[in-house]
Amino acid sequence: MQQIFVKSALLANGWADDVLISISGGKITAIEQDASPTKDALDLGAQILLPALANVHSHSFQRAMAGLSERRGASTDSFWTWRDVMYRFLDDLSVDDIHAIAAFTFMEMAETGFASVGEFHYVHHQKGGTPYDNPAETSVQIIEAAKTIGLGLTHLPVLYCFGGVNEETLKGGQLRFGSDFELFEHIVDGSKSALNDAPCDFSLGVAPHSLRAVNPGLLEQVTKLLPDRPVHMHISEQKIEVAEVEAKFGARPIEWLLENTSVNERWCLIHCTHMTPSETIGLAKSGAVAGLCSITEANLGDGIFDGTRFVENGGTFGIGSDSDLRISLTEELRTLEHSQRYATNQRTVLANPHGSNSQFLLQSAAAGGALALGRQSGEIAVGHWADLMSIEPDAFLADGLKQSMALDYWMFAARQDRVTNLWSAGRHIVSKGEHKNRSQIEQRFKTAVRKLRALL
Ligand code: ZN
Repeated sequence: MQQIFVKSALLANGWADDVLISISGGKITAIEQDASPTKDALDLGAQILLPALANVHSHSFQRAMAGLSERRGASTDSFWTWRDVMYRFLDDLSVDDIHAIAAFTFMEMAETGFASVGEFHYVHHQKGGTPYDNPAETSVQIIEAAKTIGLGLTHLPVLYCFGGVNEETLKGGQLRFGSDFELFEHIVDGSKSALNDAPCDFSLGVAPHSLRAVNPGLLEQVTKLLPDRPVHMHISEQKIEVAEVEAKFGARPIEWLLENTSVNERWCLIHCTHMTPSETIGLAKSGAVAGLCSITEANLGDGIFDGTRFVENGGTFGIGSDSDLRISLTEELRTLEHSQRYATNQRTVLANPHGSNSQFLLQSAAAGGALALGRQSGEIAVGHWADLMSIEPDAFLADGLKQSMALDYWMFAARQDRVTNLWSAGRHIVSKGEHKNRSQIEQRFKTAVRKLRALL
């Protein structure tokens, strides 16, 4: 059993002082308030203990592309030109690269306050589309990378069949993604086998890529593959995609999904950027999690999520680092709130009346993220995985600020976005702001990206 003592903690029912937390088997077994430190407890002193978040959406290999698509082409750039860079990059990505890049990316997630990740994994095959001897080879690399770091994983193998809503044939870089349903079942089975040797908080879900890449029949099939496990899908990220779906199905993407599928708490819909008010309200009431990826959505020029209407109607959201361009929990949440300010010409848009912005954003994204990953976490509570992080107000100039005021400073004003400590299901993987194996993980990443950049 481990114990942690801290002077201030954000528990499920609010702030508490002098908190002693007991952990056994990776789960929180007791929480005492107004307690004293025991002799074996790790005493965090004046640090603040918070629930660590689930990162609902990541494509870790894209971390190695960060910063490589910021040059303007001959005409205006868009999401679609960024995607072309990604396809070129994929030509040279080896299995070892996938492991090295994922490990580094997962380490950065832990250092910034994520205790788990939903890896939306679609680079399944060799260049040209030939499956590896084990069709789940690259999934095995993702699972191994998460084990190396100690970051909780909900692995989400992606079903990707077509190059557009009219079932266009895959070509070029897309061939590494493409599987028919039978091959996809082998990938899921291979992932299940690999997870047998992983910590017991690691799990599996499925990810139909988008309404561009699967048709309605395949979407129904894939959602039945792992009953009760999470279903993640990209949707309504780009206006072109909305127009294509509307032309094909006679309804906008989220409108179609709400009418034709059983969207509920099992589903995490990534982006949901372009919605009509009725789609926003319908999605909020469905119980599905909106997976918001604010840094990536800003970088790709996607647009602004209708956050105020969604939250007012009881919608649930989580946050994801998606392209992994920059891994920063505070920046994701700050960018989300700032995007709402741009859209509404108001301040403190998402918080409850008289409430703290950062506390609302953190607690909402923690609860939504846990739901999206099918992970028993999201708040500091008995019976939950010990997904915890601590921050040190004195280390980022929040001296003299307490509880939510210190949290507001960290999220909106501090230059320091790393946490001091992080536990994932009780695994203490970050201390003094760094992952325990940082230098070795970083070295492998640098070797991989130097090779890939030289070939671009
Ligand atoms: Zn994505």
